[in-house]
Amino acid sequence: MKILLVEDEERLASFIRKGISAEGYEVEVAYDGRAGLDLFRREIYDLIILDVNLPQINGFELCRLIRSENETIPVLMLTALDSLADKSDGFNAGADDYLAKPFEFQELLLRLRALTRRSGSRPKQILRLADLELNLDTKTVTRAGKRIDLTTREYALIEYLMLNKGKIISRVDISERVWSLNFDTNSNVIDVYISYLRKKIDKDFSPRLLHTIVGMGYVLRED
Ligand code: CA
Repeated sequence: MKILLVEDEERLASFIRKGISAEGYEVEVAYDGRAGLDLFRREIYDLIILDVNLPQINGFELCRLIRSENETIPVLMLTALDSLADKSDGFNAGADDYLAKPFEFQELLLRLRALTRRSGSRPKQILRLADLELNLDTKTVTRAGKRIDLTTREYALIEYLMLNKGKIISRVDISERVWSLNFDTNSNVIDVYISYLRKKIDKDFSPRLLHTIVGMGYVLRED
């Protein structure tokens, strides 16, 4: 069970991280809204804990952005603003639950357990395209049953393409989502990684899955 915690108060973040790690959850912390959004887009989490008052992107806005990309991930909002209006802002933004600071740690745990139970025992997260399989839990890729060894960056790239299979993904999308930065337009880093991936997932197999759409980007699809 992997949790993303977005909280700018470092002492509180550290307190929560230690406490819920001790309960067996894996926790990653972002200290501002922008970093939280980047992590959310790069990794797969089971639950997100969001503070409301955050630098860069506030918690409500971040919650809205997360919801626009993932409708099901449970989101628990933390805030010192314990007014009814703030609560309804949180729910309008798509939060599943709301906890006012200061809170007892046990209360946080109860909410986490309730939310993760509600989201149910997740089916194994496997993405498939033809005979290409990607397991989001173990971060492994196989084609025709054969394990394909990828570097971390190659994996991030194929995972992003698989999550968007059938859609044309621009180089800008890839540089933002997979590298978290904008390359200048002359950089050929992405082309290089696409060609690495092609060698590994397409060269010895058929049909070809990874296509270049000239002037637009890349797409994973069967034709
Ligand atoms: Ca804060």
